[in-house]
Amino acid sequence: MTTAEWNDLCGSAPVLLDGAWGTQLHERGLAAGEASEGWNITHPEEVQALAGAYAEAGSSILLTNTFGANRISLARHKLDDRTVQINQEAARLSHSAAGSRARVFGSIGPSGKMLLTGEVSEDDLTKAFEEQARALADGGVDALVIETMADLDEAVCAVGAACGTGLPVVACMVYDSGPNNDRTMMGVSPENAASRFKDAGAWALGANCGQGPDGFRAILDQYAAVSELPLWMKPNAGLPEVVDGKPVYRVTPEEFAREAAQLCEAGATFVGGCCGTGPAFIEALRAHVR
Ligand SMILES: [Zn+2]
Repeated sequence: MTTAEWNDLCGSAPVLLDGAWGTQLHERGLAAGEASEGWNITHPEEVQALAGAYAEAGSSILLTNTFGANRISLARHKLDDRTVQINQEAARLSHSAAGSRARVFGSIGPSGKMLLTGEVSEDDLTKAFEEQARALADGGVDALVIETMADLDEAVCAVGAACGTGLPVVACMVYDSGPNNDRTMMGVSPENAASRFKDAGAWALGANCGQGPDGFRAILDQYAAVSELPLWMKPNAGLPEVVDGKPVYRVTPEEFAREAAQLCEAGATFVGGCCGTGPAFIEALRAHVR
C-alpha cells in the first residue's frame, strides 16, 4: 500500500477491522493445542470461509491467519520448515476472500519465548520476524500488524523487522495488567509504547486482546495524549469464563458494538474485535457506526 493509499484509508475512519481468528477456528474444529496457522495448508477452505465471513460482515481490513507463524513459534508444532509457505498461503487466502471488498493486513504475534530470561536472543527474534514479514509482503499483504505483544523490546524488534518491508506497520500491545488494566503483563504503559514504536517507524499504534471494550477507552486516551498517529483498537468480547476447560465469552455482539462504537467516537481510526468476537460482532459494530 502506498502512503497516499494509507492516508486515504485513515481518512475514511472509522475503518472496521475483522474479529478473532483463533477462537473462531476452534468453533470450526481446530483442536486445543493445535497450531491454527497449520490450517492455512491443511484446511484452506475453512480459513478462507472465515475471512469471507468477516468481509461479508463489513470488515474493510482482514488480517491473515498468521498470528504465530514465525519460525520460533512454529517450531513447537514442527512446522518451522514451512514458515514461508504458511505465511504466503495465508496472505493468498485472505486476499481471495477479500476480493475488492477489503484490504489484507498480515498478522505478526509474539514468539512465545522470553527475551528477559535469555530464552531467545534479540538477534534470533529479529531474524524470525524479518522472515515472516518478508513472506507476508511477498504474499501480497497491504500492511503488517504487530499484535498481542506484552514485552516492548520484542515488539520493537518485530516493528523494526516489519518496517524493513516498506509496508505500513501497525504496532499493538496487550494491556491487561495493573490496577487500571492499562499496563502490559511486563509493566509497559501506552506512553512508553508510543514513544518506542514511533522511533521504530510504526505508522499506527494500538491495543488488542486482554479485556473487553470498556477497558480500552483509557488506553486510547493515553495514546492520544502523547501521539498523533492513527489508533487501532481490537478488544475482546469481555473476559472469558472457563466452562468445561474451555473459554466462554459472555459479551453479546450488541453489547460489544455499543461500547466499541464509542472508541470510534473517541478518535480510534481502526476498530474491530479480538478473542471471543466473530462476524456477528463486526456486523453489529457496522450498524452502530453507520
Ligand atoms: Zn485476543
